[in-house]
Amino acid sequence: MSDCLFCGIVAERIPAIRIAETDRAIAFMDIFPAAPGHALVIPRVHTDDALTATDEDLAACLQLAARVGRAAVEQLGATGVTFQSLARPDAGQTVFHLHVHVIPRVAGDGFAFPWPHAEGDLAELEGQAARLRMAL
Ligand SMILES: [Zn+2]
Repeated sequence: MSDCLFCGIVAERIPAIRIAETDRAIAFMDIFPAAPGHALVIPRVHTDDALTATDEDLAACLQLAARVGRAAVEQLGATGVTFQSLARPDAGQTVFHLHVHVIPRVAGDGFAFPWPHAEGDLAELEGQAARLRMAL
């Protein structure tokens, strides 16, 4: 897509600090890092998010993200890595080209997840699982 920021990075119309590339995916530094070494991995072919991506592009992105995560552990001193991908505005997505955040983590880094940690109702969980199974 010509007006897509990340397609512009793929096409090298927009500069990025690239880390690694494969035939299907590219990893580069996030210019708004949540932590030192924060990187993004995107597919070369435009797709809005993980809900619209092909299995091959999803696999390629996660494989490259894992490689970048391992490099962050080896070279940047990360003791953990958060892999995160948001799909659609209600999930917080702001750039609508699939991307996987690779965020190196260390103990006590203050990076917090906003979701609640309350135990779910088992009957509700069973009902949701049944509906998901029907769609899979
Ligand atoms: Zn794009």
